[in-house]
Amino acid sequence: MKTFEEVVRFHGHACPGLAFGFRAAQAALERLGERSRDEELVAIAENRSCAVDAIQVLCGCTLGKGNLIINDYGKQVYTFMKRPGGQGIRLAVIWQSPPENEETKALWQRFSAGDTSKEVMRAIKARKGQKMQAILKAKTVELFKIEDINGPLPEKARVYASIRCAKCGEKVMEPKLMKVEENFLCVPCAEQYNP
Ligand SMILES: [Zn+2]
Ligand SMILES: [Zn+2]
Repeated sequence: MKTFEEVVRFHGHACPGLAFGFRAAQAALERLGERSRDEELVAIAENRSCAVDAIQVLCGCTLGKGNLIINDYGKQVYTFMKRPGGQGIRLAVIWQSPPENEETKALWQRFSAGDTSKEVMRAIKARKGQKMQAILKAKTVELFKIEDINGPLPEKARVYASIRCAKCGEKVMEPKLMKVEENFLCVPCAEQYNP
């Protein structure tokens, strides 16, 4: 299994969100087995956060392959399923970071209000580092509510015909074409269309 350091190298920085994604991906691989070389493992992330990068690196579920689906509900929920059966797990983050002391609370308030002085930035960085370490060390059951699930699997990535947009002439994957009056247009051309 890939290490957290490898995930950080891909993502560019170490952060609490990445740690959550790392732990979710680890839990999925422990229960469901191997990293996905092709499309045998499917991940559905209900947000668009740093966590998604850890899932791509560890599980081999990637946007490009189509076995990473983003349903951006702004929720810290991750579902993993195996093809072809659909057996899998759903992980919802339940972890609460330990309460802040008065001093740290005051620093967060200054940071939220736009204070980026050295003192504040150093403290915020330290706090994020502590939070990340706590996430990396926590027990899986402290981090997630875990449910076993069985499907339904999302549709497999498909190959479609390419058709030229009637306005710009560029090729478009067929289901993405939009019918405007009698013309089939790409999305940007359809959005700019004014008769
Ligand atoms: Zn990040
Ligand atoms: Zn067009």
